[in-house]
This record gives sequence, C-alpha cells and structure tokens, in this order.
Amino acid sequence: MLANCANESCNRQLHSFTEGRLFQFEVVSISLAASETPAPFDEKPKRETVHFWLCGRCAASFTLVLEPARGLKLVSVSDENCRPAESSECSSNLMQS
Ligand SMILES: [Zn+2]
Repeated sequence: MLANCANESCNRQLHSFTEGRLFQFEVVSISLAASETPAPFDEKPKRETVHFWLCGRCAASFTLVLEPARGLKLVSVSDENCRPAESSECSSNLMQS
C-alpha cells in the first residue's frame, strides 16, 4: 500500500521512513446514497487517515496535495516560487532590481 513513492513516474520502493517525506491526509468519505434517504445515526461520514510517501529525491521537488474532487495531486514545489526552467530568469531579475 505505502510501499512505493507516490510519484508514479518514480515509484521508488520505500525502505525507510527516515528517507523522503511522509504525507498524512484525512479523507472524509460520504456515501452517495445518504443524500437520497436520511442516513441512520451510525452512518456518519467516515474519517479515514491515508498516508503517502515521497522518496527523498521527489520530496525535494514535489509536494503532495489531496483534492476532494480530483484525488491525489503531485505539485511541483518550485511552482510556488520559480520554476526550475525560469530560475535563471528569476535570479537575473533580482540582480537587475
Ligand atoms: Zn520518488
């Protein structure tokens, strides 16, 4: 289950949690049938904790986001700042200013 890197194009095998980065998400699953009929008291939305692991190499450049609609998403860390391809531009911009 949690045996490989969450990056599908990497899929590196997990050997130790000391390597890479472990992500924990809480997933609330609601039965679709519950919207049609009043849910019995014991059918509360289930809260599940899921774990994903990124190997050290992937964790350096990616982070994981779990979106309720789309599921697990691999997000490039550099997107939050400068993309790797644009990093030279970014630094030159800094020098110009
Ligand atoms: Zn990886």
